Amino acid sequence: MKQWKLGVIAALLAGAAQAAPLPVVTSFSILGDVAKQVGGERVAVQSLVGANQDAHAYHMTSGDIKKIRSAKLVLLNGLGLEGADVQRAVKQSKVPFAEATKNITALKAEEGGHHHHHHHDGDHDHDHDHDHDHDHDHHHHHDHGEFDPHVWTDPVLMVTYAQNVGNALIQADPEGKAYYQQRLTAYQNQLKKLHSDAQAAFGSVPADKRKVLTAHDAFSYMAKRYNVSFIAPQGVSSAAEPSAKQVASIIRQIKREGINAVFVENIKDTRMVDRIAKETGVRVSGKLYSDALGSAPADTYIGMYRYNVKALTDAMKK
Ligand SMILES: [Zn+2]
Repeated sequence: MKQWKLGVIAALLAGAAQAAPLPVVTSFSILGDVAKQVGGERVAVQSLVGANQDAHAYHMTSGDIKKIRSAKLVLLNGLGLEGADVQRAVKQSKVPFAEATKNITALKAEEGGHHHHHHHDGDHDHDHDHDHDHDHDHHHHHDHGEFDPHVWTDPVLMVTYAQNVGNALIQADPEGKAYYQQRLTAYQNQLKKLHSDAQAAFGSVPADKRKVLTAHDAFSYMAKRYNVSFIAPQGVSSAAEPSAKQVASIIRQIKREGINAVFVENIKDTRMVDRIAKETGVRVSGKLYSDALGSAPADTYIGMYRYNVKALTDAMKK
């Protein structure tokens, strides 16, 4: 009788241990959604920078350090999206981590940018002694601002991004391998469909009308993939502020080229774009989700992307 009871308790405990989801911390909400899509019920995901928050302006809190320390896996974007404080806290925690942009060919921060240079505040320590086995050779991730981190604006690159997330989950939780692989493949198929739909939508806009003003330069990968040109007064890091001369030049360009698509962003103060719109006599077309998810339908990466493509192409056609 007693042995039977112990056996039942042991079985229940084993079941409970298996059922407890893997605690995963991601640096921001878009990566958090990818981890949820691939990880399903086997993961419990927390993001340091939440919906509608600006990852460029984020600073670590002691609560976030605790979240990292109690995780079994930390997922970072890489390419300088995470500041030195986050990178240092993750390394010091000894929790395994992976970068979702591994093996993705990054654009230089200057490419596709307009009228501005990236923000570089000089207090980042450039720590190059890697004591882990990640392959950083082809990127210099620790040179903040050298590369453009906004790879999520291209769904084709997100196939690799999701693959990296899947690989990291399998490494952290090998028992879930088949589950993760099946979900990863399904998600990658959704990303491929997202790309073909985006390609068709942008393709329906005449090439000379594919011009957009946004606040910060988050859309270079989308620009390259779908042949759209973005004007962004606030640079790749949203911390940079344009000079009066740069703003005047953008205003002239909007008037000269007849640009109708003028967007604020969910993570940004709208004043800069409002001012440019007012001075050019163009109405603000709406809001884009740049570096963070929002509420439905933008509460998933795919939902957010579809929303942006529709908003952009509707405004460009006007
Ligand atoms: Zn950004």
